[in-house]
Amino acid sequence: MNPVTLEIQEIGGSLACEIKTLSGASPMSCYQCTKCSSGCPVAGRGDLKPHELVRLVHMNQRHAVLTSRFIWECTSCHTCVTRCPQKVDIAAMNDTLRALSLSEGLAAADIAAPVFNEVFLRSVRKRGRVHELGLMAAFKLRTRRFLEDLDKAPMMLKKGKLPLRGARVGGRSEREKLFRRAAHGGEP
Ligand code: SF4
Ligand code: SF4
Repeated sequence: MNPVTLEIQEIGGSLACEIKTLSGASPMSCYQCTKCSSGCPVAGRGDLKPHELVRLVHMNQRHAVLTSRFIWECTSCHTCVTRCPQKVDIAAMNDTLRALSLSEGLAAADIAAPVFNEVFLRSVRKRGRVHELGLMAAFKLRTRRFLEDLDKAPMMLKKGKLPLRGARVGGRSEREKLFRRAAHGGEP
């Protein structure tokens, strides 16, 4: 009997192919042993566990994957990658899924990570370093988490971490070039 050759498009659909192209991770190598989920430090925090996310990719469930909260909970600790017998790079996969989720406007508005990333990078782009007070104000206004972490404020004030006027460093034009380059995938 002739061996049957299957292309990845036939097995996993377009999402698996896209992930493979953009991140190099191979979700279709996964055979659902669940070792990744057993070691993942945030498996209990999200709406999915790592092996369940990979399974949804197998099934080409694009909307469910890109709206998942789990992709934002992942800390890129690589525990899953080191435990996986098939070396499926879920951390790299999640990086790509977060970018796709943002570009398609599918990240839920109340997920803090993308908002934090945006205000953090805006501060770095403008000043060359983070202005903590401005960052906290922008983050809380956007997420409406006004009371969360308020207990940290006295300690931060005591350590001088909340100055009204943040520091600025030079090199604004170089930073602009770096940010523009990053926006174009590293191309100059
Ligand atoms: S450890 Fe690897 S093979 Fe096992 S379920 Fe996770 S991704 Fe799949
Ligand atoms: S890299 Fe992400 S998915 Fe993998 S174990 Fe760490 S937190 Fe979990």
